[in-house]
Amino acid sequence: METNEAVVLRRRPTGLLSADDVEHVELPMPRAEPGQLVVRTEWLGIDATVRSWLNSGEGYLPPVEIGAVVRCSGIGTVVESRADRFTEGERAYGLPGWQRYAVLPDEVGITTPLPASADPEATMAVFGATGLTAYLGIVDIGAAQAGETVVVSAAAGATGSLAAQIAKIRGCRVVGVAGSDEKCRWLVDDLGLDGAINHRSADLAAELRRLCPDRIDVYFDNVGGPILDACLGRLARNGRVVLCGAISAYNEVRRPPGPANYVQLIQRRGRMEGFLALDHWGRMPEIAEILGGWLAYGQLRFRTQQFDGLESAVEALNALFTGANIGKVVIRLG
Ligand code: NAP
Repeated sequence: METNEAVVLRRRPTGLLSADDVEHVELPMPRAEPGQLVVRTEWLGIDATVRSWLNSGEGYLPPVEIGAVVRCSGIGTVVESRADRFTEGERAYGLPGWQRYAVLPDEVGITTPLPASADPEATMAVFGATGLTAYLGIVDIGAAQAGETVVVSAAAGATGSLAAQIAKIRGCRVVGVAGSDEKCRWLVDDLGLDGAINHRSADLAAELRRLCPDRIDVYFDNVGGPILDACLGRLARNGRVVLCGAISAYNEVRRPPGPANYVQLIQRRGRMEGFLALDHWGRMPEIAEILGGWLAYGQLRFRTQQFDGLESAVEALNALFTGANIGKVVIRLG
């Protein structure tokens, strides 16, 4: 009889996730109850937030329990359905977690039917939470306007690379912050950004002065820490700081010190605002249509970094924290 294969959390990680923090286990094949479906997972989208769910602290979702399957978004083919919106053979996008077969709830906003024509890599990289987050952060929260200067950190990552391009599409001057020369070249040469700064080798404050002569109108923050502080120090009058994520802190046991330059928010009459894409899931069809149009016209591009099999899950998640990825990290389950 076929069994399920899963990766469960054994202990709370400190720092990078280690192979000993999780365990590969065999579980009985799951069955659907009324209002549920079972999918065979084919793709997993690795988001930085997966690491934050492994910590014990209270976040926007409860922490993954010790012994539970690691929570993660993904796409699978429906193999059993007791749900109104899904039939066997169709594909669904939801939160299957790090396992080959998963029970998903038939709940709008949590599990989404995918048309047969949907490209799974584009769904993971653009049409899921990643594109929604990038769009909301630049357009709604940051309200970036043509002619303004926008800085994006982790700009060669999944969310940042879309946010930077959306700001370009809106007519902004866009500068990316990324962790290697290769990433900076991709941002400028391929994605058309106006400048890029390697935060591992450059004098960040000096480069921000050089590349943002009129200061920063919108800073899209994916990382927190010293990069947030440097951008606050270069904020323009009425500047907006969009708090998307703080990846520099997810692996830390102790809270990092606060940004010393926050006083600039007063002097520059600035605003700093956090947001969660989760709260805006209902806008996905509307925003997906806009993103799809930009993709079709070649104005928006995406890249994926592919890993293979559940055995690569630890390495795939850690890539986000070592900066080994360009674009969206996905795992393909063969
Ligand atoms: P990603 O950007 O594809 O990968 C993470 C990138 O962060 C790495 O490639 C690395 O790039 C950079 N990084 C890692 N540690 C760093 C550090 N200490 N200092 C500076 N940069 C560091 O990952 P993602 O999944 O798209 O997530 C990006 C951010 O968006 C995360 O903070 C995530 O929590 C947030 N997010 C928020 C929402 C929301 O609803 N608010 C939704 C989705 C994602 P470099 O090589 O450039 O350093």
